[in-house]
Amino acid sequence: MANSSSEAGHSSINTATNEIEQSLYEKREKIYPRQVKGIFAGLRVAAVIVLLGLYYILPWIEINGQQIVLFDLPARKFYIFGLTFWPQDFLFLAFILILLAFSLFFFTALAGRLWCGYACFQTVWTEVFLWVEHKIEGSRIQQMRLDESDFSVSKATKKVIKHSIWLLIAGATGVTFVAYFSSEDVLSYNLFNFQLGNWEMFWIFFFTAATYINAGFMREQVCKYMCPYARFQSAMFDNDTLIISYDEKRGEPRGSRRSDVHLDYKKQGLGDCINCTMCVQVCPTGIDIRNGLQYECIGCSACIDVCDDVMDRMKYPKGLIRYTTQNAIDGKQTRIIRPRVVIYFILLALFSSLFVYTLSQRSSIALDIIRDRNQLYRETSGLIENIYTLKLINMDDDTHEFNVTVEGIDNLQLLIDKESIIVEAGMVSDLPVRLRAEEENLKGRSTVVYFTVSSKDEDNLSIKQEAKFLGPLQ
Ligand code: SF4
Ligand code: SF4
Repeated sequence: MANSSSEAGHSSINTATNEIEQSLYEKREKIYPRQVKGIFAGLRVAAVIVLLGLYYILPWIEINGQQIVLFDLPARKFYIFGLTFWPQDFLFLAFILILLAFSLFFFTALAGRLWCGYACFQTVWTEVFLWVEHKIEGSRIQQMRLDESDFSVSKATKKVIKHSIWLLIAGATGVTFVAYFSSEDVLSYNLFNFQLGNWEMFWIFFFTAATYINAGFMREQVCKYMCPYARFQSAMFDNDTLIISYDEKRGEPRGSRRSDVHLDYKKQGLGDCINCTMCVQVCPTGIDIRNGLQYECIGCSACIDVCDDVMDRMKYPKGLIRYTTQNAIDGKQTRIIRPRVVIYFILLALFSSLFVYTLSQRSSIALDIIRDRNQLYRETSGLIENIYTLKLINMDDDTHEFNVTVEGIDNLQLLIDKESIIVEAGMVSDLPVRLRAEEENLKGRSTVVYFTVSSKDEDNLSIKQEAKFLGPLQ
């Protein structure tokens, strides 16, 4: 009895747990999106080819012996299209991030989820994985039948081939990712000679697994549950934002009909939607666009292409599902130029101009002036002496010879061991210098002086930086 009551107790706990689980988590129904052809599908394929092409090719291209995109973290140097960025160029990274954020705000306010539908990493890799699945397992219906069928050699063969190709693509993604951070020729050598370091192996494995799982299995779950952008984008939407929408006034009441019987369906009280559910079958997130705007809609426009095709075959006008705005649906005027778009545009233009200006003013040399920490100043030969170390960074692609001058105090003496200093391309050199000044020429306890470092072989290559010359209290 005790046992049975205990079992009953367990079973009621299990039942309760199951109920809780059921109410918290919905079991994922696998979505089998139907392949679609059309204008927007063509644009999506073009976006996939361009974006993935760039991703897979860029880190493997060298110009003048330099990888054109390399984020060399150990050397703290980023090589991007012929420019070398140093930690001192952190400002540019901040600019790029700000520009990306404002671009996202601007384009989202104007054109909705363009990013999600055409350019997001999750979208482009999922497109490729879906294409492979379609090529190997067949159409949507064939895939569903295959998954429902019992084990067979043919089923196992198809699954093994599909997963092998997915893993190859995912592996290429992982290796390419590491090539952005590791010299590509060293990486290739290490890869083919099984000499990869621990970190390289970790990141290749991590990105291979992430690509394989996200694009092969999680797919729309990433957009629905993991992506924060899907949640906060509504803050950037208004009634004039471009959305993909079903024209309810035109489509309802929906109902099936025969395309070859040319009865006036309007007299039968039907709208243009023939309830074929093709728009649901092509949707990669498995939603029905006819239920209105939903956060799960990634704006891929597959439903537009397929519905236009249906409308064509029914000889109805296209555009039952189309790019539109909430105001247009409500019969109101759509305003493209509106306060939030103007504000985002002004901020985008402002930061773009600042970025271009700052980039054009960027010097290929940087100078850090470090004061001697042991002594603020010392008196020698009746003069006040300050000691500094000039840390000169040559960010140019060529070696240069530099000389140093200083100004800011009358009769200021610069004592330096070398007449000039040669700094190789991409290297840093330290140059100890001493300044001596007469006490009566100082402007208080701290006087500003200016060091200028100029290249002897290139006219416009120089940098001027201020430092403090300290003296006794006066
Ligand atoms: S594809 Fe068009 S016609 Fe078919 S169900 Fe969807 S909205 Fe209606
Ligand atoms: S509703 Fe249409 S646009 Fe939105 S995700 Fe589905 S198919 Fe793409």
